[in-house]
Amino acid sequence: MKTKLLILSSLVSFAFLLQAQEISNGVMRFNEQRNPIYREIINIPEVNGYQVLKCDFHTHTVFSDGQVWPTIRVQEAWEGGLDAMAVTDHAERQRHEDFIKIDRNASYELIEELSKKNNIILIRGAEISRQTPPGHFNAIFIEDASSLIKDNANEKDLEAIMKAFEQDAFIFWNHPGWKPNVKGSYEWIPFVEELYKKNALHGIEVINGFGFHMKALDWCIDKGLTVLGNTDAHNLIGRGYDLSEEYVHRTMTLVMVKERTPESVREALKAGRTVAWASKYLVGKEEHVKNLVNACVKLLPSHFSQENQNGTKTNFYEIQNNSDLYFELELTSGKGTKKITLYPMSSQLISAEAGQQSISYDVTTSYVRSDKHLNISFSL
Ligand SMILES: [Zn+2]
Ligand SMILES: [Zn+2]
Repeated sequence: MKTKLLILSSLVSFAFLLQAQEISNGVMRFNEQRNPIYREIINIPEVNGYQVLKCDFHTHTVFSDGQVWPTIRVQEAWEGGLDAMAVTDHAERQRHEDFIKIDRNASYELIEELSKKNNIILIRGAEISRQTPPGHFNAIFIEDASSLIKDNANEKDLEAIMKAFEQDAFIFWNHPGWKPNVKGSYEWIPFVEELYKKNALHGIEVINGFGFHMKALDWCIDKGLTVLGNTDAHNLIGRGYDLSEEYVHRTMTLVMVKERTPESVREALKAGRTVAWASKYLVGKEEHVKNLVNACVKLLPSHFSQENQNGTKTNFYEIQNNSDLYFELELTSGKGTKKITLYPMSSQLISAEAGQQSISYDVTTSYVRSDKHLNISFSL
């Protein structure tokens, strides 16, 4: 879709060049060289009556150790088709303090208005970044980021997070496997258990940028925590992701909401109605991945039946992907097409032996546990 647009816009520009360059008041403009600016649409149908919002709950700016001014985050979110985002600067880590006044609420306040203009739901957040272990925790839907900092060197890690809890924040454990060689860092440690028992841990960032922290998916499922996928962008999104390529998208959390409002995002996060989406993978609780796949993938009634020489019949079907997600399927039971690749907004032809009730496939581009793909059945 992107490539087509580019070809179209360069054709238009070429025709324009043939006519005349834009010259006014003695200045010639080379508009054909400009980057076309538009908001990407990521098509995902409603899932059982829920809208699917595209969200990133973990980004940084120059107000901690990021490389960009907060307004850039809004531009990127708008262009990348996001519905909601949080800027979550580290509460403790101000890399540019010699040049920028420390204000832990600034990154939110500087873009509050701009986000509204751009139709982006902006959620106030911060990253509470302690030694690893226990590691880093994001608190979103907070009221005031400045009160989350360590008051003194003796403050315990737990107290820092409980301050966010007192603000009624949604709290999730970030990138638990980011330092796998540090002893006790990629484990369900007593610290995390204590937070969990206090009901002060609500989710885990199972996908952080380009890394899927597989053990954390099992923790989410076994303990009823929300699965999240975020960029943790410190630099430009376009520096980390090759956005010139078709089908490349930033890592995000797909959130199934009743309405496109901050309250609904919060309700859905609390209820755990999320699927993390990164590269070609969908990662989440079985129920939600299943509902999402079922909303996107449809098998149409057979349009042709072929008589075979051995007396059997083969039925032909179209299988449709009505979304911008991407699926790879592998046959697990029944007789039919063994492997199916469903590109965004497209269909494929498959066949199956007549007389079967159903066939089943593993969606190999999905994970519903660290060692398990979603399995789906189609009735024939
Ligand atoms: Zn950082
Ligand atoms: Zn972090």
